[in-house]
Amino acid sequence: MKYPKKKRTYCPSCNKHTLHEVLKYRKREARSLALGQRKFKEKLKGYGSFPRPNPKNRGKPVKKVALILRCTECGKKHHIRGFRVKRLEMV
Ligand SMILES: [Zn+2]
Repeated sequence: MKYPKKKRTYCPSCNKHTLHEVLKYRKREARSLALGQRKFKEKLKGYGSFPRPNPKNRGKPVKKVALILRCTECGKKHHIRGFRVKRLEMV
């Protein structure tokens, strides 16, 4: 699927339609003190059931993309609802 690099859409902080830059969301390194990571560590130690990987061949064939829009006027970012595509191309 082709997606525009720049898009004119509604900005909640400017309260009007402005030009937005489209960015791809990148996964960051997990914070070791975040609640989910702390819970995961406890599980690895043996508390609760042991975490098992998801069964094979049950994943979805297409992945969801997470896009971020950055307003060129106020510089604020906001996320848009992710959608499923095989390949995303920025045009
Ligand atoms: Zn704005």
